[in-house]
Amino acid sequence: MGLFKGKKEEVMTIGVLTSGGDAPGMNAAVRAVVRTAVHAGMKVKGIRRGYSGLLEEDFIDMETRSVADIIQRGGTILYTARCPEMMNPAGPEKAANICRKNGIDALVVIGGDGSYRGALEISKHGINVIALPGTIDLDVASSDYTIGFDTALNTAMDAIDRVRDTSTSHERCSIIEVMGRKAGHIALWCGIANGAEEILIPERYDYEEQAIIDRIAERKKLGKKLHIIINAEGVGDSNGMAKRIEAATGLETRATIIGYIQRGGSPTCRDRVFASAMGSLAVELLLAGQSNRAVCFRQGEFTDMDLAEAISMKKDIDTSLWDISRKLCR
Ligand code: ADP
Repeated sequence: MGLFKGKKEEVMTIGVLTSGGDAPGMNAAVRAVVRTAVHAGMKVKGIRRGYSGLLEEDFIDMETRSVADIIQRGGTILYTARCPEMMNPAGPEKAANICRKNGIDALVVIGGDGSYRGALEISKHGINVIALPGTIDLDVASSDYTIGFDTALNTAMDAIDRVRDTSTSHERCSIIEVMGRKAGHIALWCGIANGAEEILIPERYDYEEQAIIDRIAERKKLGKKLHIIINAEGVGDSNGMAKRIEAATGLETRATIIGYIQRGGSPTCRDRVFASAMGSLAVELLLAGQSNRAVCFRQGEFTDMDLAEAISMKKDIDTSLWDISRKLCR
């Protein structure tokens, strides 16, 4: 589908929404979608609160000025939500019918894996969708980069540095829990960046806690005063682990769960620029007549692939980074 829908005066209208967990840089992506579309002569409807807002027809007309002064802001001006109704077959069908009723020819969905699935279901009812990877967790398999990961990483890294300072002063063991329910990308990157002794991630942790305790005891014997354990949310139980480690090693051990701080804040330069490129590419794909695509960053390039194919992909942790971390965590 090109810019015009058959009759020349009938301009294409796109809807844009952010869905699932929010991520810094979503605003930059929304801005790029709106401005690229308006520049090409399209109309844009902002859909508030993700699929919930779509099903409730919570729309706002957007133009160039609607997205002024947002590129530097965390969160999403469109709000985001989780929408259980989409999990029933009737939900996506209703969403597609609402799009048709409101003259929305294509949807740009910015979100994670779950949001991609919702977008695919809507596409099966005849609405063209383009999906953009927006999640701090980096767990969208089709893309080497996701909007918000870089900011979340830097926020977590900074927080861990601070905990490290106080742990050093008190000669403590610190367990610091970072986000990532199913994926340990943030934990792995921070583990390396913060010089952690242990990195626990759902993809690799074998739950051999005694082995960790033994290594801490060994390092303590060698005179090591500071022990940093980065634990991914998906492994969890940081407070329990701290108690058990303290009991077994006699070393004062504290758990810090960084939590939602990682979701917010002004996006880094990389997140602003990459989100802008991806938002712009989403609209270019629509202009080129493409349908049901996932925007990706792969092998150093912004590109796209079939949405269903993108969803079927699986992603592991970066094995070379993991191997490096094994050599550096001592
Ligand atoms: P994320 O997009 O960050 O992974 P979720 O997994 O919570 O976040 O998904 C966001 C929303 O996408 C869900 O609340 C739901 O409305 C929709 N969604 C998720 N999975 C599906 C699915 N299998 N089919 C249809 N819609 C889905």
